[in-house]
Amino acid sequence: MADILLPTNEIVHPDKDRFLHEENPFEAMMVRFDRAAVLLDLEPGIYKVLRAPEKQIIVSIPVMMDSGEVEVFTGIRVLHNTSRGPAKGGIRFDLNVSLDEVKALAAWMTWKCAVVNIPFGGAKGGVICDPLNMSVHELERVTRRYTTGIFATLGPDSDVPAPDVNTNERVMAWLMDTYSMRVGHTVNAVTTGKPVAMGGSLGRREATGRGCMMVTKEALAHLGMQVKGTTVAVQGFGNVGSIAAELLQAEGCKIVAISDRTGGWANRNGIDVLDAMAYVQKNTTLEGYGKGDPISNEDILTLDVDVLLPAALENVITTKNAAKVKAKIVCEGANGPTTPGADAVLDKNGAFVIPDILANAGGVTVSYFEWVQNRGGYYWSEKVVNERLNDIMVNSFAEVLKLSTQHKVNMRTASYMLAISRVSTVHKLRGIYA
Ligand code: GLU
Repeated sequence: MADILLPTNEIVHPDKDRFLHEENPFEAMMVRFDRAAVLLDLEPGIYKVLRAPEKQIIVSIPVMMDSGEVEVFTGIRVLHNTSRGPAKGGIRFDLNVSLDEVKALAAWMTWKCAVVNIPFGGAKGGVICDPLNMSVHELERVTRRYTTGIFATLGPDSDVPAPDVNTNERVMAWLMDTYSMRVGHTVNAVTTGKPVAMGGSLGRREATGRGCMMVTKEALAHLGMQVKGTTVAVQGFGNVGSIAAELLQAEGCKIVAISDRTGGWANRNGIDVLDAMAYVQKNTTLEGYGKGDPISNEDILTLDVDVLLPAALENVITTKNAAKVKAKIVCEGANGPTTPGADAVLDKNGAFVIPDILANAGGVTVSYFEWVQNRGGYYWSEKVVNERLNDIMVNSFAEVLKLSTQHKVNMRTASYMLAISRVSTVHKLRGIYA
């Protein structure tokens, strides 16, 4: 589907060099934001408000390492926008964390929550560290000190973290405990993605991958393709990629390639996803799995498949490889896997892209369910969680598709238009506080 290219860009954004930095995540987000803002004829005042993150916190995190030496890490939390509700978004532990990345990811959370119409704003956090080479005790100390550093912003009504890259239920349990100790009573709604035993929601761990499966099925139906026998390649075999692969396989798709940070495996006869998951459970990664031909993380993106699911990190589909992508559907399980330059190439080649802010919104949607359950003190069955998730994903897909058809834009621009119009409506109603 053709998208509007960017002559309007210069009117809105004065930085003429912006395309030189397409792999800067904040720029990548702004390019898409600007495109939708122009189409919506967004008021200049609201445009200025939405460009600027509300709050950016950077803290030093001194930690006593197991060796007895003190290490000082850097932690970041950015609240992009809270007009529609408490800030919501994950915390990642990674060496590649930067302020620009966290700002972009925080804004993506604002748009993501608005696309699926849940009453949250957007935030993101990160600690620059190498969690794969740290002990459990070191990770706990980093988490507790980071939580203390950003304590002023946290709270069920103000800022509610969740897991993201290299963080999990255990990290959320430490965060919740640290916050609760400081306020003097147990506050489970301060974070989501917690262990079920302490107020986590059933279905939360699988929710992002499940949401990807749901929107992929909607896209297949829209394009008149069968689910059964559809070939799928999945880059990233963590919480999102492995679950999406498992659920798509259960629906009848054939998973022909999977990969993680150690590389991947391709098998035209199909990979048994449950078997691969059991292997990873035992061996930590897919290294040595062997049930197929070895394939690199770069080559998996250009396989001849019906569906490509990039579910790892940012900037994997770029102007360098987009022309070689053969998939008819690209379902963005990761945040920001495609650069703005690559968008245009994929459009030209007729790929149907389900953008990240829609495709991977299942996780934050069930985070919302978890928060609602915590606040109500009443817990739902997994069946109810999954049914409500399905309603939200299917309806949101339909709303975005409708806008995309109406305005003759791709699904990404339509998602931004829907999100920005919802956020700007609230800004107009609330006015500017003085
Ligand atoms: N980290 C996930 C995301 O990027 C989930 C965020 C949340 O549940 O708050 O969408």
